[in-house]
Amino acid sequence: EQDAAEWRASKQIVVVGKDVPKPCLTFEEASMPEYILSEVLKCGFQSPTPIQSQGWPMALKGQNTVGVSATGSGKTLAFLLPGMIHINAQPYLKPGEGPIVLVVAPTRELAVQIKEECDKFGKSSDIKNTVVYGGVPKSKQIRDLQSGTEIVIATPGRLIDHLDQGNTNLKRVTYLVLDEADRMLDMGFEPQLRKIVSQIRPDRQVLMWSATWPKEIQGLARDYLGEYYQVTVGSQDL
Ligand code: ADP
Ligand code: MG
Repeated sequence: EQDAAEWRASKQIVVVGKDVPKPCLTFEEASMPEYILSEVLKCGFQSPTPIQSQGWPMALKGQNTVGVSATGSGKTLAFLLPGMIHINAQPYLKPGEGPIVLVVAPTRELAVQIKEECDKFGKSSDIKNTVVYGGVPKSKQIRDLQSGTEIVIATPGRLIDHLDQGNTNLKRVTYLVLDEADRMLDMGFEPQLRKIVSQIRPDRQVLMWSATWPKEIQGLARDYLGEYYQVTVGSQDL
């Protein structure tokens, strides 16, 4: 405990929550399955970034989690790798069933970036993903959505279009990620986010990621996360 506290302090990691799990200082300590560990090591990464070291054990406990840290600090893998482990612990999807993991992101560029990480780290366990965003025709997205995809990465507006048209559903979603939550609120997506979350079963795990932690997001977290762990890296007004 003492070690964990000292290490957090040295990395400017602040945690909130009951029985916060210890951070993992190395990839091995993160107790990730071999198929994920091998992909991470292939990237040549030396060690988990601070948000990963504390975010992974939180997310792997199945708890609602808020992670706040600067852009470029490794938040994508912080939520993605536990999401893949979550998927591999579920029965396989049948074609036509909706995703198990849903990642909502503010922009097409970011959604595509997350998709690329999904491709890379999901390859070894054959996890399928689909990215949907606006400004392009829906037909290919519909085919992908209906082929039995475990991860959907989506911008809010286009996801709602697909849901309204019955092209997919959120009945099987048990791991919801709101990435760049601060930006999504800045862009006025709060009504869309609320509509999306209202279609997801209550026993879901929700993870919110953000570079900042303003009042508006705190409200969203209170409404949707109930009790949650929070990890903040670097200086933030809490
Ligand atoms: P954020 O979402 O916090 O802005 P990203 O997840 O986009 O940050 O990560 C930024 C970059 O850091 C990416 O190129 C990613 O591949 C790289 N990265 C992620 N984890 C690690 C790590 N443990 N060690 C080194 N680089 C990493
Ligand atoms: Mg990011």
